[in-house]
Amino acid sequence: MALRQIRIQGDAVLEKKCREITEMTPRIQELIEDMLDTMYDACGVGLAGPQVGVLKRICVIDVGEGPLVLINPVIVSADGEQTGDEGCLSLPGKAGQVTRPNHVIVRALDENMQERELEGEGLLARAFCHEIDHLDGHMYTEKVEGQIHDVTYDED
Ligand code: ZN
Repeated sequence: MALRQIRIQGDAVLEKKCREITEMTPRIQELIEDMLDTMYDACGVGLAGPQVGVLKRICVIDVGEGPLVLINPVIVSADGEQTGDEGCLSLPGKAGQVTRPNHVIVRALDENMQERELEGEGLLARAFCHEIDHLDGHMYTEKVEGQIHDVTYDED
């Protein structure tokens, strides 16, 4: 298992627009493995290419339903609304209220470069939007309503 360094907000790589992936290569296969390892090691639910310094349109997500690999993802429909705390591995220990669509359909290539349509509700819809924002150089902090606060953990 190989962990990659997670870039922290303020790093210019997080503000750049990513390029599409046109073919699967051994390097990208290794990137996918490393991104999954890095996401699980950091206990995150998603990780996008720029967060490990790679300006390619790729992200990994796992909201507790198994790993998803999204290459060149595009939101094809979004409806509903949810407002809740959102955090990011590039801003550890912090969270803020963000409103997102509650239901999202995404078209993306999977790790075999097969086109898939993925449907997400609730947390998964939020994760799709958050990770795809990263691919265009955007952080959730641009969308926070109110203050960004420290994440507090319940004692029990
Ligand atoms: Zn993030």
